[in-house]
Amino acid sequence: MTKMPVLFVGHGSPMNVIENNRFTESWKAVAADLPRPKAVLCVSAHWFDRGLAVTGTENPETIHDFWGFPPELYEINYPAPGDPELARSLAGAFGGHLRVDRHRGLDHGAWSVLSFMYPEADVPVCQLSVDASFTPRQSYLAGQSLTPLREEGVLILGSGDVVHNLALADWDMSYGYDWADEFDNYIKEAVLKGRFEAAVDYAKAGPAAARAVPMRDHFDPLLYVLGAADGGEPVSVFNEARIMGSLSMTSFQIG
Ligand code: ZN
Repeated sequence: MTKMPVLFVGHGSPMNVIENNRFTESWKAVAADLPRPKAVLCVSAHWFDRGLAVTGTENPETIHDFWGFPPELYEINYPAPGDPELARSLAGAFGGHLRVDRHRGLDHGAWSVLSFMYPEADVPVCQLSVDASFTPRQSYLAGQSLTPLREEGVLILGSGDVVHNLALADWDMSYGYDWADEFDNYIKEAVLKGRFEAAVDYAKAGPAAARAVPMRDHFDPLLYVLGAADGGEPVSVFNEARIMGSLSMTSFQIG
């Protein structure tokens, strides 16, 4: 089986889902060019909790984990099956350091993107949590442990935002603040050059880093993805954009 590429997708606001915009068009196009995965392992920013966990349900429910958005967003159901077998094998690979969660469903970090990538909901999906107790390096190392899955046809999909600061977001802005552009570019250059260590050490980017990553929930999915990749693999960048001042949509395919 060919080795699956890995993806990091900037998911931005849930509004993308009902706007059907240039970003969601890219999500469709990227999936159409990938080998069809046996399953997706999605590391979503919206499952940020202490301790590493994976969903182990047969039929994960669609979680509408956002507030104050139009009613149609709450009516979306993404009925992709789970993959309990994949969850079990991951638990084995992490040697007891990973909990299988038999209740949790798919949050919007996962389904907002997957509903465009695989609209038929016919590819099984597990979600892996972003461990809030990890240092950036530990997130990167957790990603390294996922590498063998790529040979098994599993698509590792990180869903977050390189720049994510809702407290500073301006809904009327269609571009980014200077510091958001600066940090997004710093990360893009690191990924393009295969210098993943520079992304792990993102804080060295200076004051822009603290504004771009006030919490690591949206950033660390990128570190998991980079961990599962190799610095020598080809990288393509898509949806390169900053929106609402303080969010980035910039996304990467590696491999
Ligand atoms: Zn989000």
